[in-house]
Amino acid sequence: ELPPVRGDIRFENLVFEYEKGRPALRGIHLDVKAGQSIALVGHTGSGKSTIINLLCRFYDPVQGRVTVDGYDLRDVTLQSLRSQIGIVLQDTFIFSGTIRDNIRYGRLDASDEEVEAAAKAVHAHDFIMALPNGYDTEVEERGSLLSMGQRQLLSFARALLADPRILILDEATASIDTETEVRIQEALKTLLLGRTSFIIAHRLSTIRNADRIVVLDHGRLMEAGTHDEL
Ligand code: ATP
Ligand code: MG
Repeated sequence: ELPPVRGDIRFENLVFEYEKGRPALRGIHLDVKAGQSIALVGHTGSGKSTIINLLCRFYDPVQGRVTVDGYDLRDVTLQSLRSQIGIVLQDTFIFSGTIRDNIRYGRLDASDEEVEAAAKAVHAHDFIMALPNGYDTEVEERGSLLSMGQRQLLSFARALLADPRILILDEATASIDTETEVRIQEALKTLLLGRTSFIIAHRLSTIRNADRIVVLDHGRLMEAGTHDEL
């Protein structure tokens, strides 16, 4: 059982292959302090998602290990690990139900006040209030009523409410207008505050805002530093 963590994460000489003889990670060493935000960048196939897969323990490494607060992931239960990791995916998961239920997903005990506070914190409140029935507006699966940017903000509100110590964010690639972009960046800052986070980043603005940028190439860690250093 993994106790509630601070969120210090170490990837120690990680080697991993999905298929024998075809390494997807070739010796990754990365030390992440609690509360840091890491932007993962690199070409397609460089190993970004694989790092995340090992952190969530969808797979075990072939060599090396991943630790959280010093605990080897292999020694803790999946439930106690994954309950402390929040994941915001590119293709934001919206289910048919009200906006409120969509935000509350994963924190079913949250009050209406808590739901609205989370939405306000990520600048989603205004667009929600402009919907026909506000928080009680029914959205369809895949959220056809909502724009890409709105769906993103909704998923931020959901993650903020769940309040995980560790956050993984696979940033959407879809183009959005400048105003929404600014709002999303502000919301992102709020969301990342005090969490250890890994962002598979596609936007330059996101990369700039990360504490550290990690560049992967063919399963190797090429560089790690701040935006100004690189
Ligand atoms: P992208 O930017 O396209 O998402 P990525 O950096 O996330 O790329 P990974 O998905 O981590 O790249 O893939 C790393 C390597 O592992 C690639 O060579 C890829 O073909 C391989 N790979 C990824 N997933 C699997 C899988 N499920 N089975 C076999 N090989 C895989
Ligand atoms: Mg990927």
